[in-house]
Amino acid sequence: MRTVEALDEIRRPWLFKVSHRLARGEGVRESFIQQLERFFEMLTQAVETGNPGWLEPLLIEWVEARTQGDLEKRDTSLAPILDQILIATYQAARETLPECSALDLMGAVLPVYTHVFEFVSSKETALHIDHVSREIEEAKGSLERLDKSKSDFIAIAAHELKTPLTLIEGYMSMLRDQLNDHNGTSYALLLEGVDNGTRRLREIVDDMIDVSLIDNNLLALNFQPIWIRRMLAVLELEFSEHVLSRNQVFEVHPFPGSDEMTFGDEERLFQAFRNVITNAIKYTPDGGSIIIDGRKLPGFIEVTVADSGIGVDPDDHIRIFEKFGRLGSVSLHSSGKTKFKGGGPGLGLPITKGIIEAHGGAIWVESEGYDEVKCPGSVFHILLPLRKVPPDDKTAKLFRPLIEVANADR
Ligand code: ADP
Repeated sequence: MRTVEALDEIRRPWLFKVSHRLARGEGVRESFIQQLERFFEMLTQAVETGNPGWLEPLLIEWVEARTQGDLEKRDTSLAPILDQILIATYQAARETLPECSALDLMGAVLPVYTHVFEFVSSKETALHIDHVSREIEEAKGSLERLDKSKSDFIAIAAHELKTPLTLIEGYMSMLRDQLNDHNGTSYALLLEGVDNGTRRLREIVDDMIDVSLIDNNLLALNFQPIWIRRMLAVLELEFSEHVLSRNQVFEVHPFPGSDEMTFGDEERLFQAFRNVITNAIKYTPDGGSIIIDGRKLPGFIEVTVADSGIGVDPDDHIRIFEKFGRLGSVSLHSSGKTKFKGGGPGLGLPITKGIIEAHGGAIWVESEGYDEVKCPGSVFHILLPLRKVPPDDKTAKLFRPLIEVANADR
């Protein structure tokens, strides 16, 4: 019997054996059987022509069909499937053909199978190498970014700390001169300079501490009754001088829900809103606008801070909330808090995000993109849960009468 005829004889039992050993589930089985039929056809061609290369295109398809998940689990080998195919060929030949034809057939198919095993193994190795190199490239990229962020941060931190230190040193030396002269001048102005320098230093050091508290999940919130509208009114007053100096429009619109009592850490929320507003002023050119608005959602209050500034590239919408996620060049860095584009150390938004998330809320940015000429603007959304009762019993007890009044008002 010719080898090709022998192959034709064993086609059905071979197909039955392989599909029952390997395919699981009806849907899988149907497409898998089609694949096996193609394999068997190519095997027949390979045996007939003595060229095992016939199977290569199909094998490449099989190797490449492994998913990213398989690659990550390092579970890419087709070897167990090929083992089963070989065993099924041997069994089908033994059970279907006379012994000598079965031996002849195995003699003809074995070199093809040897090629198949070697070919698949080399392709899989190449695929693994590709995947591992990609992983190494990705890891290298993120390490480089991390390294750059760190050295940028050190440069900025040094710059930030140097400015108030120089101020303090200058004022101290003037104070010393004045004291030596004993000319009776008022020291108030000089002391104010020292005071400004130390305050800025304290802010920077506090930011560093906050980042480490948030990083280590140690940010403790002190829940008290708060009214978002009142907080925003205080901030409006606080920033009025800054916006005037930058000739900007700064409006806080009242919105439903903003005058309802909710529980939150007032000091931390002030810090969070202050950071977002400082940025809105900083990244908006002179003459631009910053509008604060919001709305009430079921169980939440959403505050929006919209500016007509330089905007944020969609690729950076997540990154700006990461530690040291500042985007500008370090050389543009400035210690001025609300000076146009005077980037800070890149800790403001990560701290803000930490505070909002510790309250059970969320913060995100919406912006068409970054453009210093067209200024598409950005909208920062801050979502805060409306808490009618504080999360801990002690605070609830302390504020019980107020909670009862607020809940009766609803
Ligand atoms: P920084 O101290 O640099 O201002 P932040 O953490 O507060 O750090 O902000 C991170 C980065 O996000 C900024 O460097 C800036 O590039 C970008 N950014 C924040 N707010 C705005 C905004 N309103 N408009 C445009 N870019 C912004």
